Amino acid sequence: METVQFQFPYLQSKIQTSKTQYRESMSALPQTTTTTATTTTTILTSLSTRNNSLRKLSRGNQPENALAMFVKLRMEGLDVDRFSFPPLLKAAARVKGLFEGMQFHGLGAKLGFDLDPFVQTGLVGMYAACGRIGDARLMFDKMSHRDVVTWSIMFDGYCQSGHFDDVLKLFEEMRRSNVVPDEMVLSKILSACARSGNISYGKVIHEFIVDNSVVRDAHLQTALITMYASCGCLDMAKDLFDNMWPKNMQLLKLEPDHDGALVVLSNIYAKERRWQDVGELRNSMKRRGIAKERGSSRIEMKNEVHEFLMADRNHPQADRIYEKLDEVVSELKLVGYAPNTHCVLVDVEEDEKQEVVLWHSEKLALCYGLMSEPNGSCIRIVKNLRVCEDCHTFIKLVSKVYGREIIVRDRNRFHHYKDGVCSCKDYW
Ligand SMILES: [Zn+2]
Ligand SMILES: [Zn+2]
Repeated sequence: METVQFQFPYLQSKIQTSKTQYRESMSALPQTTTTTATTTTTILTSLSTRNNSLRKLSRGNQPENALAMFVKLRMEGLDVDRFSFPPLLKAAARVKGLFEGMQFHGLGAKLGFDLDPFVQTGLVGMYAACGRIGDARLMFDKMSHRDVVTWSIMFDGYCQSGHFDDVLKLFEEMRRSNVVPDEMVLSKILSACARSGNISYGKVIHEFIVDNSVVRDAHLQTALITMYASCGCLDMAKDLFDNMWPKNMQLLKLEPDHDGALVVLSNIYAKERRWQDVGELRNSMKRRGIAKERGSSRIEMKNEVHEFLMADRNHPQADRIYEKLDEVVSELKLVGYAPNTHCVLVDVEEDEKQEVVLWHSEKLALCYGLMSEPNGSCIRIVKNLRVCEDCHTFIKLVSKVYGREIIVRDRNRFHHYKDGVCSCKDYW
């Protein structure tokens, strides 16, 4: 299974176990007794202590440690209960470990926990995060009790897999079942409207927010601004932005993970070449201490994870990577590729801009993939931000010219490139 191979090298490199060893211990899960005698430094005597640790690990910076802890517990013959499953599924979702998640699903069912609403919610989240949106929906439909969190996870899944029509349908269903959407859910629906260019539905949601006096937190406010900006209603976006509560502005600043309304607006202005507006916004960003997150791309090659930043020269094979990039660019130009510099924010000369856009981290990662496995199989890249238009076109062309299948997981969704087309149909 594709996703399995995808996730293993990452997990494995983090938990320092050999691939076979890890796979064996994972497939040994359904057996309740293992008699491996190992000395252990941590004594996790009670179930609740273990579950607390699993919970902490699954929320921490390295969720794969929750999976490693589980393997260890099983090897030592220590039991788990139904409270162990939500954090384990969360960890599997966060590392996009479908193989692990499915093993937990199997074990949970065997132990009779699969009817527990918390376990079920965890399963919806795990399948959605691993790109198995159909399975997530099956699980969701099976649930007898669904709270707003479960709905929110399902919305997330549809958004990430680019099923924007389903987002809107799900919202209708949610209203019919009398569950009140919270700010999180409304933000997600607005983001679906933004990404599919559905301004009319976006306006319906805006009205809903006004009519029901929904409190506009920073997320919701940003989502509204982004929706209007992405649909081309810049004045409305600017208006909402100018009236944004200072408190929300503060919140945006504190969340490094959030692009924020400012970045959205400045991207749109840059696209329209309104440089003076871009300048004003950038100053305002600086004054308020908001920085744009730096893009980085990760590629897994031969069980090793390689990470690239924009214009990165830190890789030991940097020279060869940039040579490869030159070669790829000339090949692509033969089939009509022209660097699209619309996404570059600063007002620099056109040829300089082309260089900037060519050095985006996913292009570097892709070239590294091409040169490391010239005739190899599918190339898989994980990007922390949204893939820009130019990189999207670039990767589509590479998939055609080099006859390679490429999967990119960006902040919003999976892109599956093959024969010059992408599974997102250019909506992302
Ligand atoms: Zn790019
Ligand atoms: Zn795509």
